Amino acid sequence: MAKVFISIGSNLSNPVDQVKLALKKLGKNPLWKGVKSSSLYSTKPVGSENQPDYCNAVAELETLLEPEALLDELQKMEYEQGRIRLTKWGPRTLDLDILLYEDSIIETKRLTIPHPRMFERGFVLKPLQDLLPSFCLPGGEDIKKLLKECADNGSVKKIY
Ligand code: ATP
Ligand code: MG
Ligand code: MG
Repeated sequence: MAKVFISIGSNLSNPVDQVKLALKKLGKNPLWKGVKSSSLYSTKPVGSENQPDYCNAVAELETLLEPEALLDELQKMEYEQGRIRLTKWGPRTLDLDILLYEDSIIETKRLTIPHPRMFERGFVLKPLQDLLPSFCLPGGEDIKKLLKECADNGSVKKIY
């Protein structure tokens, strides 16, 4: 079983409900087990600012799926919840990104793991910290230190 961390984000069609629905679906899927969730956070958009606020969370699970097969399943869930890709970093009903897959380093056409932008994103590191409070990311960086350096750190607010 591989331990995996997945970032969940939404800023359309009731973002909190979208994230809760995604967590519920993750919890019911027989392709993995041991699903745990961080708290839910309200966050300001990063990258393309003129769009609604986000709800973000991180989920942990264990799976026998290989990384690309896992990505297929997560993309299926995105489409089921109405994801349409119009502009890069544009608004979306659901985004599911693979942050970490065990301690694997993966670089393929479809996948980069660890997720290449996770280290500078407060909206990813803050929920991840709920599940891994004193964690050193691959590369040895301390999550607390990285979080302090995130430009969006101050805009990540816990909902519950
Ligand atoms: P960002 O990656 O900056 O968070 P995004 O999540 O909005 O942006 P998407 O449109 O969801 O980007 O995905 C674009 C492509 O990124 C996907 O089709 C997928 O092949 C690729 N990708 C590369 N690495 C990962 C990863 N670790 N998790 C999810 N998708 C990835
Ligand atoms: Mg993303
Ligand atoms: Mg994505």
